[in-house]
Amino acid sequence: MADFSLELNEDQLQIQKWVHDFAADVIRPVAPEYDQREETPWPVIEEAAKIGLYSWEFVANVFADRTGLTFPLVFEEMCWGDAGIALAIFGTTLGVSGIVGNGTPEQIAEWVPECFGTPDDIHLAAFAVSEPDAGSDVSSLRTRAVYDEATDEWVLNGTKTWITNGGITKVPTVHVVVAAVDPELRSRGHASFVIPPGTPGLSMGQKFSKMGIRASHTAEVVLDDVRIPGRCLLGGKEKLDERLARAREGKSTRVQAAMSTFEASRPLVGAQAIGIARAAYEYALAYAKERVAFGRPIIMNQAIAFKLADMKMHIDAARLLVWRACWMAANGKRFEAGEGSMSKLYAGEVAVRATEEAIQILGGAGYVKDHPVEQWHRDSKIYTIFEGTSEIQRLVVARAISGLHIP
Ligand SMILES: Cc1cc2nc3c(=O)[nH]c(=O)nc-3n(C[C@H](O)[C@H](O)[C@H](O)COP(=O)(O)OP(=O)(O)OC[C@H]3O[C@@H](n4cnc5c(N)ncnc54)[C@H](O)[C@@H]3O)c2cc1C
Repeated sequence: MADFSLELNEDQLQIQKWVHDFAADVIRPVAPEYDQREETPWPVIEEAAKIGLYSWEFVANVFADRTGLTFPLVFEEMCWGDAGIALAIFGTTLGVSGIVGNGTPEQIAEWVPECFGTPDDIHLAAFAVSEPDAGSDVSSLRTRAVYDEATDEWVLNGTKTWITNGGITKVPTVHVVVAAVDPELRSRGHASFVIPPGTPGLSMGQKFSKMGIRASHTAEVVLDDVRIPGRCLLGGKEKLDERLARAREGKSTRVQAAMSTFEASRPLVGAQAIGIARAAYEYALAYAKERVAFGRPIIMNQAIAFKLADMKMHIDAARLLVWRACWMAANGKRFEAGEGSMSKLYAGEVAVRATEEAIQILGGAGYVKDHPVEQWHRDSKIYTIFEGTSEIQRLVVARAISGLHIP
């Protein structure tokens, strides 16, 4: 087990600087353009692939860090650059988490490299759980997966909504879909499936126009008699049958397809929120030292200086929660008190507050598009909504600390 340490090692410092430079030199300059156009930043994704940042090798290397801290460092720097572009590049990792969290070693070896492709043949991945009537309430999924024994195929039907990278066909895109195999068992009857790129029957429905993270593609995914080989069931049929049998007997089943993915990814979502919050804090601090009102820089007013002190304190506290959860996850420690949810919850709310305070510190300049803080505020809001709303995170923590199934 790796000791928990706040002292970053040489490798981590190097990666942090490398990603920061990419965020500063490549992402930030084009961020307002993609926010305005609301398009996938293909040239930036290509550049990230070219330098090896968007690659299976890099992500595997980062996953292998036993301290657990390299991933949050990478996400914080990327989102310091721009959260929408960062998600356009690393939204794939959600699909990857779905495969790593539920797949066999053979499936992980086969499908995860497929999610990234190569610099000359970029692929993406999406993780599709949410449906029009099943967002927070994942147990209400209507998408069905039915096994066709004659052909050893699974047949999927349903509609997924708000899916990051959902339905993209410009490049081969791997979809990891959570569907109900036995709807009566609610979430215990769910399973995860890999839908290989180009599978007939999978198409994109509505592409959504959003308030923030506008460079990240969000769309419906329609599954119309999608047939996939039996080997695309993550974890394999034998394990699924055993799990369903246990659930039918009323025995506990530890694996719930969507939940195991979200557990692993929530602290990293928190790290993204910290990147936005830090960007806003740094911008507001610099502005407050420059901007003169009543004959002195506005930071010389305690009303402004104390806002900045609070922003810094909350950002640092959020980072400590995120790093703790990432370290626990990397070292196989169970989240006894909802530590993963706690970190995402706090970081998301800090980002919303910090970006709003940044607008306030800039005054009128904060409200117009000449400065990036209004965009950062719009971008921050999703962090209290996706991968579990703030209310749902509080529910997870409350249940964990009380041992009670609070409804
Ligand atoms: C930009 C974007 C990207 C997304 N990407 C993905 C993706 O890649 N894959 C994917 O599967 N999904 C994705 N989502 C979906 C996202 O995870 C859901 O929107 C989120 O989980 C909330 O579900 P909902 O929108 O149905 O809200 P609802 O569940 O309808 O909730 C509405 C409100 O009620 C509250 N609420 C609900 N139940 C309770 C309760 N029991 N107690 C207290 N309050 C409650 C919620 O907190 C919220 O405030 C994305 C969404 C967006 C907007």
